[in-house]
Amino acid sequence: MSPYRIPFNKPYLVGTELGYIEDSVRSGHISGDGDYTRKCHAFLEAALGAPKALLTTSCTHALEMAALILDIAPGDEVIVPSFTFVSTVNAFVLRGATPVFVDIRPDTLNLDEAALERAITPRTRAILPVHYAGVGCEMETIMRVADAHGIPVVEDNAHGLFGRYHGRNLGTFGVMATQSFHETKNFTCGEGGALIINDESWIERAEIIREKGTNRSRFFRGMVDKYTWVDTGSSYLPSDVLAAYLYVQLEQRDAIQTKRRWIWETYGQALGNWAEAHGVRLPVVPDGCEQTYHMFYLLLPSLSVRTALIDHLKSRGILAVFHYLPLHLSAMGMKYGGKAGDCPVTEDVSDRLLRLPFYNDLTEDDVSDVIQALHDFDGWG
Ligand SMILES: *Cc1c(COP(=O)(O)O)cnc(C)c1O
Repeated sequence: MSPYRIPFNKPYLVGTELGYIEDSVRSGHISGDGDYTRKCHAFLEAALGAPKALLTTSCTHALEMAALILDIAPGDEVIVPSFTFVSTVNAFVLRGATPVFVDIRPDTLNLDEAALERAITPRTRAILPVHYAGVGCEMETIMRVADAHGIPVVEDNAHGLFGRYHGRNLGTFGVMATQSFHETKNFTCGEGGALIINDESWIERAEIIREKGTNRSRFFRGMVDKYTWVDTGSSYLPSDVLAAYLYVQLEQRDAIQTKRRWIWETYGQALGNWAEAHGVRLPVVPDGCEQTYHMFYLLLPSLSVRTALIDHLKSRGILAVFHYLPLHLSAMGMKYGGKAGDCPVTEDVSDRLLRLPFYNDLTEDDVSDVIQALHDFDGWG
């Protein structure tokens, strides 16, 4: 049994997943690209206004596909925030790319667009912004700089599905974007992801790479009379059984986002004065950003206060967790020359950030308990 009465995350079940799963199993098509996969594709394409969405086995795999599609090769450089999940960059490092880490903005914790230009070299082959917590990066500046240098942008939109920046959907700025349906994300099927393709010239290559380097997708659409090996590739399509699970959640988009918004706003309203009194910074959502309510974090005054607060919450049966460790200071990051001081905001924030329990069926009582426990904390040092 977990010692936590209120865990950090709980995988979400709408309740009707088993019906769709049974339907999928009985349809006789449980491999990839069955009816439920097609429904998910159509849903994502319509919701985002993107020319193509392809379900993948994870966001990590969608990122790997992006690296393959862009022909990333040894010697290429990719620009990535140091404050992100390993997969954002590992998918490109797997193809031989060298990561170039940039720092984040102190307010949104997104890639610092002002640091972008000087990170670009003649070898830069991709820019990988991450919409942290589902709050959009400064995409106007990022796209202007990227376009001026002719460098493709791939948005890691794992947190940002259905978020918007200046009225435009996150995931539709770059040539491609990636989504995650891991159980820690707003919409889930356990493990899953999607590649969103905004530049139509990449669609056919993406379908081929996803289907083991064959033109099987064209074959199924009747566009070629047999399918064969035409390019490099791998197997990135999930079983239709997982797509059935996911489709239920996508259909519940509004209910899920409404609930998450309520959790986020309840934390935000209840903690405003408390935060101010104790020098705690709450999340910042700039004007023009419609966020996704993916997480609620606190930026505490110091590492020692964070450690004390984690222990205090644990004593109340509440699990709160920190987030990314700076990638440039990881064992791998240091092999690429990363050293302390390279990304000061990342290094500072990584020590002080604490995420509160946040999942779709967190109850009103749970949220009140967390808020009360925070108010009861007296270990400010
Ligand atoms: C969750 C996450 C991923 C990886 O998603 P998977 O679907 O687990 O591969 C990548 N990037 C970010 C920013 C994430 O939060």
